[in-house]
Amino acid sequence: MITEWLTDVKGVQTEASHDQAMLHQMSDFDLCLVCFTASQLTDREERALDSSVRDGKPVFAIHSATVVNEKNEMYIDMIGGRFVKHSPYHEFQVQIEDKEHPITQGVVDFKITDELYILDRAPQNAHLLAAAVWEDKSQPMVYTRKHGKGNVLYNALGHDEAAFNNPMFQKLVVGGIKWLLQA
Ligand SMILES: [Zn+2]
Repeated sequence: MITEWLTDVKGVQTEASHDQAMLHQMSDFDLCLVCFTASQLTDREERALDSSVRDGKPVFAIHSATVVNEKNEMYIDMIGGRFVKHSPYHEFQVQIEDKEHPITQGVVDFKITDELYILDRAPQNAHLLAAAVWEDKSQPMVYTRKHGKGNVLYNALGHDEAAFNNPMFQKLVVGGIKWLLQA
């Protein structure tokens, strides 16, 4: 679906793969979009991704990209947190925390039917763009952070088609990709 949204974006070409070994080929690409359940990365994959981001390559992680083995500390440190649990699948409110940022242009507070992700830590040195409340506590939904020279963007939303069909989610994803390619 993301590949399809990007067909309208000038100058962007995409390649989708289910092969984690692609992480060794980051030099062939301008941006890495991680939208798989990471689960477990090999030392080599983790180091390849970490060093390419530290050298300035942007990475965009979506939803279950934070569902990863706790041993993958380098990867968790780069994204800014690790998935602990999620709320039951339900409709909730997403609040835009920074309406001035290029990624949130044209995005207003919205409702989405999704899993509300809870991470194991507050992401360090993060710039919060959107948040949602679960059990009286605000949880980061979209944030950017710097890892070495590279920009990291995490969007915790996106469990299934209901989220992917949400126009605000689409705007945040496409806006995020554009920003990462230009920043
Ligand atoms: Zn999910």
